[in-house]
Amino acid sequence: MNIVLLGLPGAGKGTQAKIIVNHLSIPHISTGDLFRQAYQAKTELGLRAKEFMDKGELIPDEVTIGLAFSRIGEVDCARGFLLDGFPRNLNQARALRNYLDSGSKQIRHVVYVEVDENLLLERLTGRRVCVGCGTTFHLIYNPPANDNACDCCNGEIIQREDDREETVKERLKINKELTHKLVQFYGDEGILRKVDGAKGIDEVTKDVLGLF
Ligand code: ADP
Ligand code: ADP
Ligand code: ZN
Repeated sequence: MNIVLLGLPGAGKGTQAKIIVNHLSIPHISTGDLFRQAYQAKTELGLRAKEFMDKGELIPDEVTIGLAFSRIGEVDCARGFLLDGFPRNLNQARALRNYLDSGSKQIRHVVYVEVDENLLLERLTGRRVCVGCGTTFHLIYNPPANDNACDCCNGEIIQREDDREETVKERLKINKELTHKLVQFYGDEGILRKVDGAKGIDEVTKDVLGLF
């Protein structure tokens, strides 16, 4: 089963993705994570991507689409995958449809995690992530058991550079209109499912899993 998680930055895509892929035994593909891994490995792509990410801007489509497709083409995705943070605009959505069509595949469900914008600023500025394993926490809503150590791997917990207030505002501005268009696009295709992302993490998970 091929799934897309759609939602504004901070909606809870990453949090839900990690739980859902465990239930469904399919890989979690986050373009944001792929870019951050590329940066940590100091590849040319990673270094170039970082400049855009730090400003809260989107990385150019020709880079992003290539990266996403090469991951989807890996053998572990043959039985299904969950996309988180891709596609992020109409051009990416159309490219994805064409790419999957050519392999006689398709997206089965697009889950739109809907959260009112005024909640997102608090979600993003309170977000903390583990350097070691990428697990996401929130200072108020999902705090780590020990202040500065990850529950999963004991790694260091930090704030992402693009989660500072100014960058967050820029990201929300850029993504709002694009997300709206994607909701329309997948709505027209008849595969859009909405969940209320303002609920607690466990409730959202239950609602999402109830769709499949
Ligand atoms: P996204 O991947 O959509 O940007 P994340 O999954 O990283 O969003 O979540 C953003 C922040 O909000 C994180 O700090 C996360 O712990 C927290 N969060 C996620 N889902 C919820 C929820 N349902 N209720 C409260 N906080 C949440
Ligand atoms: P969030 O959903 O919390 O905003 P991500 O981790 O998904 O964050 O993305 C972080 C950054 O990576 C984005 O602000 C953007 O610069 C880049 N990025 C991720 N996915 C895409 C994409 N599909 N297209 C363009 N840029 C992307
Ligand atoms: Zn960790």
